[in-house]
Amino acid sequence: MLKSHLLILLIFCSALTATSQDSDSVFIQKIYNEALTNGQSYENLRSLCKDIGARLSGSSEAQMAVEWSQIRMEKCGFDKVYLQPIMVPHWERGTKESGWIRSKKGEIIKVNLLALGGSVGTNGTLEGEIVEFKHLDDLKKANKSLIEGRIVFLNQPMNEKEIQTFKAYGGCYQIRGNGAVEAGKLGAKAVVIRSLGLPIDEHPHTGSMHYSDDVEKIPAAALSTKDAEILSQMLKNGSLQFVMEMDCRSYEPVQSYNVIGEITGSKFPNKIITVGGHLDSWDTGEGAHDDGAGVMHSLEALRILKELNYEPNHTLRVVFFMNEENGNMGGETYATWVKERKEEHIAAVESDRGGFAPRGYNIDGNDTHLKFLQSLEKELRHYDLHIFEKGYGGVDIGPLKKQFEAIALFGFIPDSQRYFDFHHAPSDVFENVNKRELELGCAGVASLLYFIDKRF
Ligand SMILES: [Zn+2]
Repeated sequence: MLKSHLLILLIFCSALTATSQDSDSVFIQKIYNEALTNGQSYENLRSLCKDIGARLSGSSEAQMAVEWSQIRMEKCGFDKVYLQPIMVPHWERGTKESGWIRSKKGEIIKVNLLALGGSVGTNGTLEGEIVEFKHLDDLKKANKSLIEGRIVFLNQPMNEKEIQTFKAYGGCYQIRGNGAVEAGKLGAKAVVIRSLGLPIDEHPHTGSMHYSDDVEKIPAAALSTKDAEILSQMLKNGSLQFVMEMDCRSYEPVQSYNVIGEITGSKFPNKIITVGGHLDSWDTGEGAHDDGAGVMHSLEALRILKELNYEPNHTLRVVFFMNEENGNMGGETYATWVKERKEEHIAAVESDRGGFAPRGYNIDGNDTHLKFLQSLEKELRHYDLHIFEKGYGGVDIGPLKKQFEAIALFGFIPDSQRYFDFHHAPSDVFENVNKRELELGCAGVASLLYFIDKRF
């Protein structure tokens, strides 16, 4: 008798679980349907890219992007929309930016270059013999007499054999970040690097770099990969002069904002799930993939859940972070601020890897967090998602870890093969984002938020 009761109970329980899983799968289908048939992310991205454009921290465009974002969030009808003040660095490229190779035979070749973000200018025309290094470590080992008074050319390519392009980027990121310090230590008058991009093309890729207080600040620029190849080839035939002019400079920090929207949790309003990307971009191109796509993924995810009348248990908060590219003041300030407000943060999701077709998610968390993520595979495989792995969350949400040790940080993972064609380059424009791929990304982020809210 007892056994048969138990059996009935078991059947009842498993029927309940099956029903909730069925309703989850129906809801996920609704998320995708909404994203693909009624999505607003593509038009929003077009407007951000074309009506505002590139939006480097501290610029007028960044301020306009803040106002634009606040209006878009208000239109979504979230429970709260507000700005969080932050101080950001202010650097400007200026109007002059040119470079030439000059050979002893009198050939003069113009190159495509971009100052690295934060670089000092050249103070007029700067000219010097150019010395090539194929790896940053070779420069570090070089004799000062070889470098002093010359221009260092760091021609370290991204590894084409690496399938994960972010790993290839990580493998030579240091030539951009540390090149000026390493070359400056040995008395170089400037440094030019090969752009961090995989294709051989004419687009130089900028990005952040840093100086050290005890090393003279020298101008730093990136050459297009095509020009890097030409320069390297020409150097095989003898020494060359390099001529450059840049009038970029830094100004005093200015006030800017993170833009925040919320749907209040029905059961746990003080427990927060953050989703976001960064609103700022480099000043070249339109910041379409980096990170216009990421902020659209995040905004659209909340819009879809609201549109489908989903009432979250936890507070879902979308954050458009400012200043990820050259300081991360948005991410840092946000993490400190939420801690001071005594909020509880259980998870955060970041999208900052472009608007390409979604592949899955990374988790920066403990084994329980990983198991949770892996448990979603059976629900989401149908949507072409197959990466459910430990990995990096993102730069903007990273500081939350310092404030909430047990937080789970999720990184959204689109296909990475073409990301470094456009990253920080003039070609990172709206036209290079595919509508359907962007919309699938929005649905992928919304689905993850739904499962975190319901099952985490
Ligand atoms: Zn980015």
